[in-house]
Amino acid sequence: MIDTHAHVHDAKFDADRSETIARARAVGVEQIVLVGCDLADTERAIQCAREFSLHASIGIHPHEAAQAPEDIVERFDALYDSKHVVAIGEIGLDYFYTHSPPDVQQRILREQLAYASTHRLPTIFHQRDAFEDFIGILREAYDPTYGGVVHCFTGDSVQASQLVDEFGLRLGIGGVLTFKNDYAMPSEKSASMRSCSKPTAPILPRCRYAVSATSRRISLTPLVDSLPNLRSASMRRSRVPTRPHARSFRHSFRPRKGAPAPTHRKSGCAIS
Ligand SMILES: [Zn+2]
Ligand SMILES: [Zn+2]
Repeated sequence: MIDTHAHVHDAKFDADRSETIARARAVGVEQIVLVGCDLADTERAIQCAREFSLHASIGIHPHEAAQAPEDIVERFDALYDSKHVVAIGEIGLDYFYTHSPPDVQQRILREQLAYASTHRLPTIFHQRDAFEDFIGILREAYDPTYGGVVHCFTGDSVQASQLVDEFGLRLGIGGVLTFKNDYAMPSEKSASMRSCSKPTAPILPRCRYAVSATSRRISLTPLVDSLPNLRSASMRRSRVPTRPHARSFRHSFRPRKGAPAPTHRKSGCAIS
């Protein structure tokens, strides 16, 4: 099992990072992607990935878009480490908090999508209360060839189908799945949905059996066990095989063989 979204490099884990990673491995999490939220955070993620033989992603979170540097490409190039960096993220739009102005979020998202495309990297998306703008930018600037995941997906079945069928994306299903009634998705509409279960440490609830984000309890089983409730007969299990090397791991994000091809084709990016 691969956790495609964690922030174990965060300072909140300074006291017990190695124990936390060891516990995750003990319950079957064979690989973790440490997700960057700004340049300094990404640098920490990559250092942590080197120290613990994990993977990392490079990205500027929509919250931090207003603080993004002018020279994103050069700064990303300086951080990029092909041995450990497996994705661009987390990037996207967040109009719930709007810590950065929406137009700035959109510009920074486009720039990072261009970087992902240029470097043939999958993408880890964060989207909250910005679905229409998000979809519009994907149509304009996202290349589905290299795959991606929308983490902590909490939308409805129509949105799920759109992300999966049009863009070939995977959906990150967080701990909210285990809160009965909070996550209703008609199973008949999820036939083509592909998913990744993920605890998103340390911010979101891992599952209803986790006491708190700082409890350090890794309790993935209820979350993974809840997934069949969403699945229709043709929906695939969330598990993907562990690939030992970053280069191979990147292929895990891509649409699976035999899956319907995404209807969206990259038509050219606004950022060159
Ligand atoms: Zn996020
Ligand atoms: Zn995150």
